[in-house]
Amino acid sequence: MSHYHVNIDLLSQSNSGHVGVCMDCGNIQVSYGNVLLYFTEESLRRFVKSLNNIDPSYVFEMPEGKRILITSPCKTVMMTLDESELSDIISLVEEAIINLEINKVVEFNC
Ligand SMILES: [Zn+2]
Repeated sequence: MSHYHVNIDLLSQSNSGHVGVCMDCGNIQVSYGNVLLYFTEESLRRFVKSLNNIDPSYVFEMPEGKRILITSPCKTVMMTLDESELSDIISLVEEAIINLEINKVVEFNC
């Protein structure tokens, strides 16, 4: 990463996070709680598809309650979400994808 993706065009936002596109490189930033993830548009679409098809075997009873495990490319790093956080992050990402599509139409017509 040659820069810190600070020049962000916000695509969606909630109380817990945001999705934005880096105006310098086009990477898509997903900030949720204290986790920061980066995606290409294609990998973001795969990410939200996988969130919408969570395997029940990835739901674990933890001391803090039922948590859904979100794996990462690094096998020793996982994100855990409760059900309301899961639906919040899905809404955030789906809204961001819609706004990406709207931005493409606007750019095409300019
Ligand atoms: Zn960037």
